Amino acid sequence: YNEEEKTEDYLFKIVLIGDSAVGKSNLLARFARDEFYPNSKSTIGVEFQTQKMEINGKEVKAQIWDTAGQERFRAVTSAYYRGAVGALLVYDISRRQTFDSIGRWLNELHTHSDMNVVTILVGNKSDLKDAREVPTPEGKALAEAQGLFFMETSALDSSNVVSAFQTVVKEIYNILS
Ligand code: GDP
Ligand code: MG
Repeated sequence: YNEEEKTEDYLFKIVLIGDSAVGKSNLLARFARDEFYPNSKSTIGVEFQTQKMEINGKEVKAQIWDTAGQERFRAVTSAYYRGAVGALLVYDISRRQTFDSIGRWLNELHTHSDMNVVTILVGNKSDLKDAREVPTPEGKALAEAQGLFFMETSALDSSNVVSAFQTVVKEIYNILS
């Protein structure tokens, strides 16, 4: 047994936030289980899922928290945010209203967690090309203005889902290690 090979245990709490029905639960389902639910109702039960990832040859665990639908009532509690070091701030590219809510979610995030929480702005449902209401450059510009990472994803066709989570986890790892 070599002391140098001792594995360090990294566990990062990451929260999913954004308006109801933007696809938060399906992004997690796609990432953690490679599943998709075409008619998903509000999440039942599970508070978080822990996903092992490898970053720079080190095993890292991402503990990803999903709401149980309470965002519909603007009632995400401070316990949800407590200890979070990362966040995926999700809107739906086919519903402008969900993009307009981003400022409010950012305020809430910064009220309840550390200012330095690593955050990625995620425009989900990129597969809905004909229904797009938020152009890509607009998402990008908001992210730049707020100092966030940015990615468009589709939980339906899987595009960029792993990348979005990986971007956050890698950055947290780089900051903390
Ligand atoms: P949440 O309320 O933010 O957790 O949203 P859900 O994950 O429950 O998804 C809400 C609805 O949008 C469900 O009917 C999903 O099947 C659908 N949905 C989620 N992600 C996508 C996506 O990337 N593309 C499309 N077309 N539909 C999606
Ligand atoms: Mg949900």
